[in-house]
Amino acid sequence: MNRPLVGVLALQGDFARHQEALERAGCPNVRLVRTRAQLEGLDGLILPGGESSTILKLLRIEGLMEPLRQFPAPIFGTCAGMILLAREVSNPGQESLGLLDAHVRRNGYGAQRESFEAQEPSSLGSSPLPLVFIRAPWIEELAPESEVLCTSGGRPVLVRQGRVLAASFHPELTDDPTVHAYFLRMVAESMNGGL
Ligand code: GLN
Repeated sequence: MNRPLVGVLALQGDFARHQEALERAGCPNVRLVRTRAQLEGLDGLILPGGESSTILKLLRIEGLMEPLRQFPAPIFGTCAGMILLAREVSNPGQESLGLLDAHVRRNGYGAQRESFEAQEPSSLGSSPLPLVFIRAPWIEELAPESEVLCTSGGRPVLVRQGRVLAASFHPELTDDPTVHAYFLRMVAESMNGGL
């Protein structure tokens, strides 16, 4: 089978950490994406954490909003990336891609808990997942057909809808490759025509 080529949107944010996390999870073929042309031929794409309003501004400048809405392969957003994927964004509201049927509240965990870490069981494996939250969005509302893969404090923090995966935390900032390995399985499944 061909080795997957996975893109990481590299306009702003912690894209380099995602590249390293993909490599750790066994995917050496990573392309940093800054233009429409660089979306061509990708088998999957990651939207990193960072500042979603800044990434949004740069996406508009680069003419990437529509091509991302049409992106045909698995797509994974973490933190700011999850905000960009959502159908509806609040606190404050801003345009988004609408690929994840969810209402996401920016900085939902509030100033008091700006950054914190947790460990939670998940349906991805037997060991608890390390979760790093940084000014993290929370999922206010989620389409009922979504798969909730991990929750924290009673809220979903890792969810999947078909070929879309979204995390309110930063798996790329830990050395646990579980979540990236799961995304790579989605990519492999889609390359085999199964998604
Ligand atoms: N609070 C940021 C935003 O609204 C997201 C933070 C992050 O990605 N760590 O875009």
